[in-house]
Amino acid sequence: MAQQAPILIVGAGQAGAMAAAELRKLGHADRIVMVGGERHAPYERPPLSKAVLADAGQRGQIGVHPASFYAEREIDLRLGTTVTAIDPARSVAACTDGSEIHFGACLLATGGSARALKALPPGTPDVHYLRTLDDADALREAMQRADEILVIGGGFLGLETASTAVDLGLKVTVLESADTLLGRAAPAELGDWLAQRIRARGVDLRLGCQIAAIEPQSQGVRVQLADGTAWQVPVLVVAIGLTPNSGLAAGAGLALHPGNGGIRIDERGRTSAPNIYAAGDCASQFHPLFGTEMRLESWQSANEQARIAATSMLGLEAAPAATPWFWTDQFGCNVQMLGAAHAGIRYAWRERPPGDAASPKFMLLGTLDGRLRHAIAVNAGGDLRQLRALFGLPVEEHLARLCDAALPLRQLVREVQADATGRTASLTTL
Ligand SMILES: Cc1cc2nc3c(=O)[nH]c(=O)nc-3n(C[C@H](O)[C@H](O)[C@H](O)COP(=O)(O)OP(=O)(O)OC[C@H]3O[C@@H](n4cnc5c(N)ncnc54)[C@H](O)[C@@H]3O)c2cc1C
Repeated sequence: MAQQAPILIVGAGQAGAMAAAELRKLGHADRIVMVGGERHAPYERPPLSKAVLADAGQRGQIGVHPASFYAEREIDLRLGTTVTAIDPARSVAACTDGSEIHFGACLLATGGSARALKALPPGTPDVHYLRTLDDADALREAMQRADEILVIGGGFLGLETASTAVDLGLKVTVLESADTLLGRAAPAELGDWLAQRIRARGVDLRLGCQIAAIEPQSQGVRVQLADGTAWQVPVLVVAIGLTPNSGLAAGAGLALHPGNGGIRIDERGRTSAPNIYAAGDCASQFHPLFGTEMRLESWQSANEQARIAATSMLGLEAAPAATPWFWTDQFGCNVQMLGAAHAGIRYAWRERPPGDAASPKFMLLGTLDGRLRHAIAVNAGGDLRQLRALFGLPVEEHLARLCDAALPLRQLVREVQADATGRTASLTTL
């Protein structure tokens, strides 16, 4: 009997590995082929700028699944192999090892690549980009030999790297062209608070600065600002964002978002080509909470989109995605976010400790049109979990109480939820 064409997963990262697991969990017994460009089995990337960057001993702890998982579930994992082209009309993928894979359905889980500065292509000596385990190994080894690093980029990745470097005892400089930190993902309230904290930990943080020149030297790199300030550093880290790996999809004629460059998918993970799905950092999707299409770069979003795409591939109905959730660990703080930043959101504090507090604990609640759209918790992940119940609900008239840290949140959330859902229900019956 002819074998059914396999499900092909392109990309052996977070989304790819989670999709393969979901397919097996849902009872898919036919072949699954997962092709991954890296030589490592799927691993979690969040520790690459945190525990794994500090300590090589953590490398063995980061598999998305245990090493035996793929063989046990008969997932044909082909590592160190890249898919170079997909022909949607013939349902065929071509690989760098010369093979062609005829697929029944295909998931593009190709992630993204660190955005590079033109003057400093990847491979430039003493310049580091951080996306892969190999990148993290190279940066750790470089930091072990150095006493100083300079980080370009004040986003999550740059700041986590700076934080790890501070913990390792290095002198750290961070250059950010915007006037606040985390500008794309968080409000100025958080960025300004964090800037104060980072400076209190000894980091030379320069905001609103324009780099005039970057010149690799025989040893290290020279960086000069437009105001003439210059550094000669042994290690330079460039953390200026991500470019989605959507070239394969573009070559196959799939629709991409003109703004964020991601592969457009619908609520079931389907791309514009039949039987081709996408998930993770490479995918662009409409988010009803914000009424707009976005490309979320987060561990949770990769997992959720993978689950939904895998379910849809089997012709089943998936539960909708959970509210977007993101975390970062830096400078002694665990920062968690529910929802996402969006133009027009107004923020209110629930407690407001100074940036140099030893163990700060607070939240910022963001509302748009009176509804809770974004919540940020610093060392208060438990409180954030409580707030999940209020997402998207009208909370404006309860905001002052929700921001009063003297009031116990659990009870308050119950009351507000009952009131808000009651009012929403009575409005819909009018
Ligand atoms: C250093 C770092 C720290 C992070 N920290 C956090 C955090 O604290 N919290 C959080 O929520 N998120 C964090 N993230 C983000 C999170 O890890 C990503 O959102 C997640 O890994 C996305 O998963 P993915 O499967 O879409 O992409 P990836 O995990 O990048 O996997 C994509 C894989 O596809 C492969 N590939 C690409 N093209 C091809 C091809 N043509 N053929 C074969 N293989 C291909 C790539 O080589 C890669 O291995 C962090 C990311 C990094 C890099």
